[in-house]
Amino acid sequence: MTDKLYHPSKLFIEKRALKHPITNRIMERLLHLKPVIINDVGEFILAEKDNFTDVPPQEKPLILAFQKGKFLKNCPGTQRYICCGYQILNLVNNCEINCSYCILQGYLNSPFIIVYVNLEHLFQELENTFAENQEKIYRIGTGELADSLSTDHLTNFSRELVRFFSHRKNAVLELKTKTTQIENFLDEPHRGRTVVAWSLNTPRVIATEEKMAPSLEERIDAAQRSQKAGFRLAFHFDPMIYYENCEEDYKSVVRQLFEKIDPKNIIWISLGALRYPPHLESLIRHNHPDSEITYGELFPGLDGKLRYFKPIRIRMFREIYREIKKAAPDVFVYLCMESSEVWEKSFGWTPKTSAGLKRMMDELV
Ligand code: SF4
Repeated sequence: MTDKLYHPSKLFIEKRALKHPITNRIMERLLHLKPVIINDVGEFILAEKDNFTDVPPQEKPLILAFQKGKFLKNCPGTQRYICCGYQILNLVNNCEINCSYCILQGYLNSPFIIVYVNLEHLFQELENTFAENQEKIYRIGTGELADSLSTDHLTNFSRELVRFFSHRKNAVLELKTKTTQIENFLDEPHRGRTVVAWSLNTPRVIATEEKMAPSLEERIDAAQRSQKAGFRLAFHFDPMIYYENCEEDYKSVVRQLFEKIDPKNIIWISLGALRYPPHLESLIRHNHPDSEITYGELFPGLDGKLRYFKPIRIRMFREIYREIKKAAPDVFVYLCMESSEVWEKSFGWTPKTSAGLKRMMDELV
C-alpha cells in the first residue's frame, strides 16, 4: 500500500484544548513535534496563515482546537438543483490530499488542518438532535470540509463515531474517503449504522488531479476489506471530469468495481460532474499548474457555479448509469446537484424535488 499519510510539520494547540484526553492521545502520536500553545484558533489563523503557505500539503501544520459552535450543519447543497438533504459533521477542517478541483482551497483558504478534540460535545449535540425528532432519519457525513479518514491515524475518530452511531435508531453515518485508512474501525461492531464510501475516478483523473490520493485499485481493495467486515458501502463518482472518450474510462472503472464488490452491499452510488465557483479557477491554475480541468469548457449554471455544457453532462451520466445498472440493477444511483431535466434525460426518471430525493434515500437507510 502506498504511504501517503499525513505527517504534520508543526503542532499548535489551543489553550482550551490543552488538557483534553484526545489532545494527549494525538500528542502521543506526534512526540517528535514540540507543541506551541495558542490562545484562539480563529485569531491565530488570521495572523499566521501567510507564514505557512510554502509548506507541502502533506505536512500542513496541525491545530488541535475546541469547537465552540455547532458540529452539525446542513450540507450547503445548492438552491435551484435537486439535493438529497444530507447533514455534515465538522470535526476536521481542511485536507492534505490536495486534489486540484478541491473547493476547500477557495472556501477555507488556510494552510492549517484543524482537528476539534471536544468529541463529547459533538456526541451530546447529536443525542439532543436525534431525540428532538425521533421520526426523522438523519443521514450524516464527515467528508465535507475534510476527507473523513485521512487524519484517522492521528485521531482515531472513526472508531468512536462508528461506536456512537451503532446505538442510534434514526441516524446513519457516512465516512467518505479516498484513502485506505480503515483499520481503526474494521473490527468495531457497527450494527449497520455506518456506511463507508469511496470517491472514485478514472486512473487518468487520479494521476493528474488527485496525485496524493491512493490509486483506484487501492480504494477498491479497501472497500472490499470493509465489505468483508460487513459494512455497507457507497461510491461517489464525483467530480466526473470530461475529456475525450472519458465515458469509456468511467465505464471501465464501474466494471473494475463490480469485480470485487457485491452490489447487494452498496447502499447508494452518486454521480456528479465537475463544478466550482468562478473565483476558484485562478486558484486552481496557481496551485495546480499541471491540472487539465480548467481547459474544459465550463459555463455558469443556475447557481453561478461553472459546469460542463448540459448535453456533455447528460452523456457522461447516461453512459455510466447504464453500465452500473448492467452490473447492479437494484442499486440506487442519484445525481448530486442537478436539475430535474438532467435527471430525466440521464436516467429516464426524476425524483422531481429535493424532498422527493430525500424521501427515497431515507427509505434506503
Ligand atoms: S480528498 Fe476531498 S477534501 Fe481532500 S483535497 Fe480532495 S476533494 Fe478536497
